Amino acid sequence: MINLIEQIDQYIQDKIPRGYRDPRGFYVTHLGSCPRKVYNFWNKVTESNPSDLMSHLNFWVGDGFESALKENAFSKMFLQGIHLLNYQCSVGASDPRINGFADYLLGIEKDDKSVEPFVVELKTKYGWGSKKMLKEKTPNEEHIFQVGYYLKDLHDKGVTNQGCIFYLLMQDYQPTKSLVQFNCVYQPEDETVKVYEVHSTAFASESMNLTVNLGEEINTLKQVEKDIEAGKKSRCKFQHKFPVTREMLGDQSDNAIKEAVTGNKLLGDWQCSFCSYKDHCAEEEGRALFYNDEELKLLMEEHEIRKAAAKTRRATKRRK
Ligand code: SF4
Repeated sequence: MINLIEQIDQYIQDKIPRGYRDPRGFYVTHLGSCPRKVYNFWNKVTESNPSDLMSHLNFWVGDGFESALKENAFSKMFLQGIHLLNYQCSVGASDPRINGFADYLLGIEKDDKSVEPFVVELKTKYGWGSKKMLKEKTPNEEHIFQVGYYLKDLHDKGVTNQGCIFYLLMQDYQPTKSLVQFNCVYQPEDETVKVYEVHSTAFASESMNLTVNLGEEINTLKQVEKDIEAGKKSRCKFQHKFPVTREMLGDQSDNAIKEAVTGNKLLGDWQCSFCSYKDHCAEEEGRALFYNDEELKLLMEEHEIRKAAAKTRRATKRRK
């Protein structure tokens, strides 16, 4: 009988075309991204590490949640003074050329019955990323840039500078879900975005004071535009493999060291591990995707130190 999983996988690899969205502008998600990655995307470089079936499934779960929230909540909350003004609200400008779609534009009713527009951008997170967010209570920087750009564009068009990033957090292998909402405001005087409070089903609401410089990221895309025109490759913002030094190893977790020693991981910026041009970029830059004997020796030594420390910790715990 037919294996549908294999067929879907094949369909994704063969049929979902590269650059199927409008290629005349950058995506809002390119803000905060690696300039080289954006340069490759614009030039339609073939992805050396395309998204696999499981990554697509995660996107589809996010898409399903997005339309469920619209159908079952936002479009029916008018008696609470919350109105769905727009869904997949088109956002964009020409300097630099950026286009995107804010998930929802809500209208929050005020005492005088006027309505204040409020942008909601939905994100889903799984496993490690989800646990990290619950621990650190901080949104991803690139998500702040994304919602910040929507707020800048809508502010410049006289709509609103207020919105939020709304996360659905899923823990792998456990039926645990949480919602986390980070409220943000765009500050036009210095082109920054401030995250000023967080609400969640998992912890009490808190005030925050986290500011990012959106203007700088917009300038980075303007530079990529210039690079494209000049046919000059844009700079790499991240490193897929950090130089192996005692100091760098000291900053890594026990598990990361173990994974690196067993050949399952390169210790570098996480953005590169998820980059669809990872192998291509390493080849272009003449960087190795493995550890040489000298690097492995240092890694092994660090691994032995970590194992001994863990053993001592366990013995101390048993004695207590
Ligand atoms: S592998 Fe890293 S440095 Fe290279 S393009 Fe991707 S994110 Fe940028």
